[in-house]
Order: sequence, then C-alpha cells, then structure tokens
Amino acid sequence: MKILLLSFYDLGKQPKIISELYQKLDNGENQIDIVDYSIEDKDITLSEYDALGVYASMHTASVLAEEFLRDKTLPTKLFVFGLYAHVFSEMYPNFNSIHSLDSDDLDNLLDLKLNTDYSFKHSVPDRSILPSITDYSHIVDGSNNLVAGSVETTYGCKHACTHCPVPIEFNGSFKTFGTEKITQDVANQVEAGAKHISFNDPDFFNGPKHALKILELLNTQHPDITYDSTIKVEHILKYPEYFRELKDLNMLFVISAFETTNDLVLEILQKNHTYKDLRDAVEVSIKNNIDIRPTWMPFSPWTEIDDLTNIITLIEDYKLRETVDPIQLTIKLLIPKNSLILNRPEIKEYLLDYDPASFSYSWNYKNTALDNIQNELFTYVLQNESADEYRQYLGLVKILEKHSGKSLLSTEKYNQRVVPKLSETWFCCAEPNKIQLERIRSNKALI
Ligand code: SF4
Repeated sequence: MKILLLSFYDLGKQPKIISELYQKLDNGENQIDIVDYSIEDKDITLSEYDALGVYASMHTASVLAEEFLRDKTLPTKLFVFGLYAHVFSEMYPNFNSIHSLDSDDLDNLLDLKLNTDYSFKHSVPDRSILPSITDYSHIVDGSNNLVAGSVETTYGCKHACTHCPVPIEFNGSFKTFGTEKITQDVANQVEAGAKHISFNDPDFFNGPKHALKILELLNTQHPDITYDSTIKVEHILKYPEYFRELKDLNMLFVISAFETTNDLVLEILQKNHTYKDLRDAVEVSIKNNIDIRPTWMPFSPWTEIDDLTNIITLIEDYKLRETVDPIQLTIKLLIPKNSLILNRPEIKEYLLDYDPASFSYSWNYKNTALDNIQNELFTYVLQNESADEYRQYLGLVKILEKHSGKSLLSTEKYNQRVVPKLSETWFCCAEPNKIQLERIRSNKALI
C-alpha cells in the first residue's frame, strides 16, 4: 500500500509523531512517504496514494491542512491523528480519527497487519526519516543560535483548564513514556546536533518525580545539554523543592501559562491559580535563579483594561520585559469544537456562531472597547515585526498607556538582559492570527 503522511505545523518542532506512525505502518511491504510542509515545499499528487494521514497537531495545523487539501482529489483511505484529530474529522467526516497509536484503529481502516513490535509507550522514534532537527526551532541567546531538539516524558494532562485542547482529548489523565524511549530519543537528537532539549510535556510537573528522575539521568548522560519545560503556576507553588532542583540540572528556563491577571477569568478558565499566585510563582523563579517565561491570553469576553495594565505592572515589578514575547500580549481566547469552556454558564451570552473555516467559535466582548485595543496591539506587532522584541514591548506599553491614561513603565533604571528563548514564540491554546499564519508560511519564525 502507498501511504502519504503530512504534517503542516508542530509549533516549530520536528513532528515526532509522524516517525512513530511510520514505524507502526512499516510492515516491510508498505511504501510510506512523508512531507512536513512547515519546512518543505514539495509538489505531490495526492491521488497517487492509497491512503493519506494528516497530522492535526493543533488548531493552526488543522487550518493549514484544510487549506492545502481543499479542492484536491484525495485517496480513498483518509485518516487524521493528533490533538485536533476529532475536531478535524467532525468537520471532514471522510477522515477517520485515530485516537491512539496503540489501538487497532489504523489496522482496521487500512485492512492491513501493521508492525506488531511497535509500542507507543516504549518504541524509540526513528527521527532519521524526518527532516533534520537543524531545520526547526532553535534556542536563541544573544549571538548564539543553538540547535534544539524535543522530547516528552508524559502525554496527556491531569488538569482540565477550560480553554485548553488537551483535556478535550485526555479527559484529565496522563501517562508516562518508558525511560529507555525518552533517553534514547534524546541521545539520538544529541548525536544529530542538538545542544538543547525542550520537554514537550503539557506539564512537566504532572508527575514531578518521574520528570526529575528522567532529567537527572539525562544530565548524567549529557552534562552539557540544556533544557526548557512548561510548568503550571499551581505546580511551581506546590512543588518548590522540585523546582529548586531544576537549576542544577541545566533547566535554562520554564514556560508557565499565566493567561491573565483577572481572578474571575482565571476561575472561568479553571486554572487553579490567582493573580497573587502569579507573583508568588515569579518570586520562586527569581529565588531559584531560573527565568520564567509567562505566556498570556489577555483577551477573553470578560477582559477589562485594568487586566492589561496589571499584566504590565507585573512585568515591570519583576523586570520580565525580556521573558515575555510581545505577541503574547495580543492573544485571544480560542474556542474550538467540544471546548470545555462551552460548559461554563459565563460564556453563553458572549458566544457567537461556529466558524468552520477557522475551526472555532467567534465571541463578543463584554466591554466592546477591548476589541479595538486588541486590534491596535496586534496591528502594532504586525507592523513592527522586524523591530527587536524589547522595542515591540515598549511600543505595546505606550498603546496601553494611551488607553488607560496610566503611566505603566517603571521609573527605575532598567538593565536590559540577554536571555535564552526558543525561536518559536507561541502556544497551542491561543487563537492563531494572521501574523502567525504568515510567519509559518514564510518560515520566518524558523531559523
Ligand atoms: S493548560 Fe496546561 S495544565 Fe491546563 S489542561 Fe492544558 S496542558 Fe493541562
């Protein structure tokens, strides 16, 4: 059987799941081709294949996939996999959603005996069949530009934040990957040139002991490799003793989804943290000398101008200008099909129709002035894309000062720092906007 696997965007990372799928499909008889359109531009005749698999890693990937496939003649056997597989297959019922690589879904659809040795928990991904990791997101750190790989110690998440696509699929559960799979995958990437590894776990501290055990092992095997991970505010505060260990194990920075300073919105999002907790989490990071990189989702139906100025106050109070990506200050709530936020009574009066083209619901603001402010901030970033991020931040603050009538920049002298960060600057729960889609298409975000 001739099978084509397509990836469109995986947040700047190598689409590891494609290599896993390849291994499962590789029964010694199938011909399997792979294209990652986030970095390749291949002309392919889809109808030449017997089966097509599309990686719907998240929202933007699904939008790009739909655009690519529209009006093309497709193979007869179609399947979709990844976090947005269900959303995609609800829109396009001719695509079968593959829930788990350990299930028989694929065998049944393709009517083939697939590789029985393959195990999602234990098989080491063969990344050599993918484009090189040097083509994907890097760590940028002043003059350094380091090849970055990625790995996961777990999949799924034990939390149920209402704006997040992960619990729609995993329903508040997570599982661990086998130690050998994780460590060998990292060893292979180090061999391929990686100097830094991102832990792609939705939350590195869902199983903190497992995560730290892996990190200690990796640190012993590759003492020069650095890391980053994502840890929610609640876990930073709950496990300060584990957080303390990260610095000595080469954790360069920790990404944490702060979202907003509005406690009412945080409650609706079921984040299990408050505005005060954000400040406490930053203090834990400062105490342990690990940069925290907060991600934000400032715009939701309930946003008020004070929420935006409070974000700037927090950034200024803790001197975080370099660790917040300016685009983050423009991000809007994304509501896909089956989003948990649809179960919250607060959303009802602001919810508009589902827009199939964008795979999401539109919504209104309670305070309509916020729509213009978001647009102005976003347009500013769009028009100043080539300016350095520090200047972009100052420009965004000026816009917020104009709308709030407040002086927001700290009057203290600010010593600008050079901090390490990934060259890809946005995240899966956010509504992708035009600038992001254009950056993906033009590969500008991919060094
Ligand atoms: S936002 Fe993070 S912690 Fe919350 S459900 Fe999603 S992955 Fe889990």
